[in-house]
Amino acid sequence: MITASCHCGAVRIEIAEPPKRLTECNCSICRRLGALWAYYTRDQIVFDMAPDATVGYAQGDKTLETHHCRTCGCTTHWSGLGPENPDRVAVNARLFAPEDRAGIPVRHFDGADTWTFLD
Ligand SMILES: [Zn+2]
Repeated sequence: MITASCHCGAVRIEIAEPPKRLTECNCSICRRLGALWAYYTRDQIVFDMAPDATVGYAQGDKTLETHHCRTCGCTTHWSGLGPENPDRVAVNARLFAPEDRAGIPVRHFDGADTWTFLD
């Protein structure tokens, strides 16, 4: 069990299985957020937070919405929007404890241009 939590603790995300890999993406939003994504489906994680604890932001074609903690500002996760990927979610692994992240490989995704992995 991994628990990701924002700095103030208002947002906690419980994950039963550690991710096999983490993804760093260079697209216009990910590079600004500095997030390191661990991908899941919605049924694999549990949010422990008030319904209004995060603020969502949907950019561009609005296929997903990034969220940050309303209190401390940490980027916590993104959720898929729309009919294509309603169950997709990614947790920001920068909110993991360092020991929970250790040893998990990081892949670099070229979301800015070719939409392929660079490594
Ligand atoms: Zn917070």
